[in-house]
Amino acid sequence: MTDATAPSTVVKARKAPRMTYKQEIQTIKNLPRTQRLIVIMKIAGVFLVAIGLEGIVTGQYAYTLLFIPLGVFVSMMPIKIRTGVCIACRSPLEQHQAICPKCGAPQM
Ligand SMILES: [Zn+2]
Repeated sequence: MTDATAPSTVVKARKAPRMTYKQEIQTIKNLPRTQRLIVIMKIAGVFLVAIGLEGIVTGQYAYTLLFIPLGVFVSMMPIKIRTGVCIACRSPLEQHQAICPKCGAPQM
């Protein structure tokens, strides 16, 4: 019965300790535009590569030659999209920065 009264702040803090509540809200606000697209493209890329690999297994190498480069291209695209600005605060970012130096928001 004591589990029900456990503080919910522990759960929140564990998820992204470097982000404040306000920054987290800002990040979530921007999710539909940028991050959701990135996630979709990554999944699509993996899916396309999987089709290409299936081509190797079944001996249909035309599939492999078409879908593997396409899958790699699609999964690489979001990396190019996200270089530039932070998804949370829109401040400029260096190419290899995984975490925003200004607000600490992780760049997926
Ligand atoms: Zn930022």
